[in-house]
Amino acid sequence: MNDAMNGKGTVKVEEKLYQNRYLVDAGRPHIRVKPHQTPSRGLLAMTHLCPAGCYNLSESGQVEVSADGCVECGTCRIVTQTTGELEWNYPRGGFGVLYKFG
Ligand code: SF4
Repeated sequence: MNDAMNGKGTVKVEEKLYQNRYLVDAGRPHIRVKPHQTPSRGLLAMTHLCPAGCYNLSESGQVEVSADGCVECGTCRIVTQTTGELEWNYPRGGFGVLYKFG
């Protein structure tokens, strides 16, 4: 039993996420950002909202994604649903996030 379960302390989200593992499907990212000049406000916000830190802003002002480490929360999919800036699919079976429970 850990401290959080004993009520002796708290566990940070980052520490919980670190327990998960991720199997990369090389060359087949499950999320792609479509080519753009200027990102929508929603897509730009993903550089701060993604819990796994998958989104970055390039020096030339485009949003880029590296889906390695994605926890498949779907936030980016919802935020960009009306803009159509992402191609979002679940990873192939056996790839992607491997959650550790408990
Ligand atoms: S699904 Fe969630 S974790 Fe994955 S890239 Fe989108 S916001 Fe990040």
